[in-house]
Amino acid sequence: MKTLSIVIPCYNEELSVDGLFAAIEDTVLHLMDRYVVSCIFVDDGSKDGTLEKIKSLDSGLVRIEYISFSRNFGKESAMMAGLKKAKGDLVAIMDSDLQHPPRYLLDMLKEIEQNGYDMIAMRRVSRKGDPKIKSWFARAFYRTINRISETELADGVGDYRLMKRIVADAILSLKEYHRFSKGLFSWVGFKTKYLEYENVERVAGETKWSFFKLFRYAIDGIVSFSTFPLRVATMIGAVVSLLALIYLIYVVIDYIARGNDVPGYPTLLSTILLAGGLILLALGVIGEYLARTYMQVKNRPIYIVREETPEK
Ligand code: UDP
Ligand code: MG
Repeated sequence: MKTLSIVIPCYNEELSVDGLFAAIEDTVLHLMDRYVVSCIFVDDGSKDGTLEKIKSLDSGLVRIEYISFSRNFGKESAMMAGLKKAKGDLVAIMDSDLQHPPRYLLDMLKEIEQNGYDMIAMRRVSRKGDPKIKSWFARAFYRTINRISETELADGVGDYRLMKRIVADAILSLKEYHRFSKGLFSWVGFKTKYLEYENVERVAGETKWSFFKLFRYAIDGIVSFSTFPLRVATMIGAVVSLLALIYLIYVVIDYIARGNDVPGYPTLLSTILLAGGLILLALGVIGEYLARTYMQVKNRPIYIVREETPEK
C-alpha cells in the first residue's frame, strides 16, 4: 500500500472543516484499496473554533494529523509546515473551503499513476463568482510577471495540487523567507500537468485575502521571481541622463549663438521635481529588494508551532 498525505491550510474555517472532511472521506472510499490516506490540517492561528473542530474529527478511513501555529503566519507558511509534516509517497495540497473539491484527487491520481507525471495542478478555467476588479488585477499580474520573469506562471493555477514525494522534497529544500508557492512550484520543474476545472465558490465563511493582502502577495511574487524592477530604475536613469545631456548641449550652443537668454524657472522646477520623483521611485524599488534581503538574512522561522500531533 502506498501512502497519500493531504495538506489542508485552515484559517478561521470552523464552518467548513466538517463539510470538507466529509467530502474527503467520500473520495477516499474510491482509493482506499491502493492508498493509506492521512489528512494534515494546519491551523494557521485561527481565532475561532477551527482547532477544536479539527480535534473533534474522527474517522475510520483517514488518519488525522494537525499542526497549530502560535499565531496567523499566512497560507504560505501553513502549506510549508504541512508539506514538512506530510510523509506520504504522494502529497496533495487543498484549501479547506471546498473551493478545491476533493473528488478531483481521483483524476489527479490517475494522471500520476498511468501517465507518469510528477505533479498535477488544478487550473480553474473561469473566475466566475470573483469580483470583476479582482479578476482584472489578477490578469494584469500574470501578464506582467510572465513578461519579466523566466518562471512561467499560468493564470488560474492555484495551490490545489498533487505531487510525488520528490517534488515535495524539492519544495522543502527552498529556504526562502518570502514564499510565493505558485512560482516555487513552477521553478522546481518536474513533469507537470494542468487539469482544468470550473471555479467553485467557498461553502462558508469568507475569503481571507483582502485586496491589500493580495496586492502585497503580487509584489512578493514579482520581487521573488524577477530583478526586472531593479533594471527599470537603471533604464529610466539612463534615459533621463541622456535627455538632460542633450538639453545641456542645446543650452550651451544657444548661449554661444544668441547670447544670454535665461530660460524660464518653470522648466527648472519641473525638471528638479521629475528627477527627485524618479530618484525616490528607484530608491523605493531598491528598498523592496533590500527589505526582503534583510528579512532573509535575519533567518527567522516562517512559522512557530504551538501544538501538533506527534510524529510517528
Ligand atoms: N488560509 C490560511 N492562512 C491565511 C489565509 C488563508 O491558512 O492567512 C487558508 C484558508 O483557510 C483556505 C485557503 O488558505 O483554506 C485559501 O484561503 P481563501 O479561501 O480565503 O482564499 P481564496 O480562495 O479566496 O483565494
Ligand atoms: Mg477559498
